[in-house]
Amino acid sequence: MAPITTPRPTAPVERADRGVTDSKVGPPSAVILLYHRVADLPTDPQMLAVSPARFREQLDALTRECRVLTLAGLVEGLSTGRVPPRSVVLTFDDGYEDNLVQAAPVLRERGASATVFVASGYVTDPREFWWDELERRLLLPGALPRTLSLRVGEVTRSWDLGDAAAYAEIDFERHRGWNVTHRCNPTPRHRAYRELFDWLRPMTSRDRDDALAAFDVAWRCSGGKFTGEQVARGTHADSGAKERPPSRVGNAHPTQLAAFDVAWRCRGGKFTGEQVASGTHADSGAKERPPSRVGNAHPTQLAAFDVAWRCSGGKFTGELVASGTHADSGAKERPPSRVGNAHPTHGPLTPEQLCELVADGLIEIGAHTVNHPVLSALSVVEQRAEIARSKADLEAVLDKPVMSFSYPFGTRRDYTVETVDLVRRVGFSRACSNFAGRVTAASDPFQLPRVLVRDWDADTLLRRIEEVSRVA
Ligand SMILES: [Zn+2]
Repeated sequence: MAPITTPRPTAPVERADRGVTDSKVGPPSAVILLYHRVADLPTDPQMLAVSPARFREQLDALTRECRVLTLAGLVEGLSTGRVPPRSVVLTFDDGYEDNLVQAAPVLRERGASATVFVASGYVTDPREFWWDELERRLLLPGALPRTLSLRVGEVTRSWDLGDAAAYAEIDFERHRGWNVTHRCNPTPRHRAYRELFDWLRPMTSRDRDDALAAFDVAWRCSGGKFTGEQVARGTHADSGAKERPPSRVGNAHPTQLAAFDVAWRCRGGKFTGEQVASGTHADSGAKERPPSRVGNAHPTQLAAFDVAWRCSGGKFTGELVASGTHADSGAKERPPSRVGNAHPTHGPLTPEQLCELVADGLIEIGAHTVNHPVLSALSVVEQRAEIARSKADLEAVLDKPVMSFSYPFGTRRDYTVETVDLVRRVGFSRACSNFAGRVTAASDPFQLPRVLVRDWDADTLLRRIEEVSRVA
């Protein structure tokens, strides 16, 4: 995940100008490309995806016009002065499943290497990336309260969604092409999305979970609006402090407690008649915990399933069905926010998929922290935990050293000199940032510039590489 900072080249180059010129002969240099996703998406407000067709077109051009190096090979070549002209390195940030399903086959066909930087917390506890969760909640069809109030710590912020509280398929179709580079917000939902993104981005994962858990309640438990019972109990979304159960504050296990939160909120403290009738209730105290948690290897993950399943009384409501966020049978009964359901294209890689990705040695896995925080917003101790744990998590999955790192969001505001020092001392050999530029022998191997790739045709990509290569 990276902020929108890149100028977008639009005019295609003339055929005769195609390719990266080597007219500028000088010291070795190269361009590192930054991808996120290879997918055809119904909507892409952060412009993270390159379509599979465009990706093939781009790879054809890159393998024909450039020399694709590994990241390690580039850093080593710069130190020895041996970097071929027109060198590029391919990198992917975040660790989406489509990197394996869509990108890897194309890379393999063309013998092109790449580094995939993975936020390890999304592998070990699979869930949507928070920015995808925000997109799903606000920009996909569904119902929300007219006044959306979210509280984090002592701060409560509200958005008046007005008539956009109800968001039908036709509304979604009308605005699906919107992205954050557009100046206007076509509905209050788009304004809320933009403002919430900026609000959530620098938060700790605990606070962000808090904010998103409040959506959970609104969305899952009431099908987009609160029940009379919840309002009566003061546990509905627009009742200020009561929205937030006391147990979460300052707790060290936010994921686990988030599940309790949802249960607590959904029930208003006890199970509904429907749940009792369907046999999914529990009648007191400790028994209220879902039975499937006992002995499970991923209790916090499955607890969330349990809670959601119970909140919906074991089946989805008519309203959820009507809004297209239901699932109609068997495994599809998973709640919409879980990977593989209403946002099936937005899954992170699983541990097994990580191993599959590196099996033939063409693709390297790098670390991208655990929770994808803005590192500069954390204490040095917290930063170290994010950086070191992501390395250890991924090494445990892959059973091999993980030597490359990329900074979440990656602009110079998103990390500090202390961060760079930590990355080096934790044992990484190189690190990538997210500001445009060519890589030269003078580049800091722990702050390598990269060029964000958008859903461009091949000529536009080559033109962009050439622009960057020409900058001294
Ligand atoms: Zn990222």
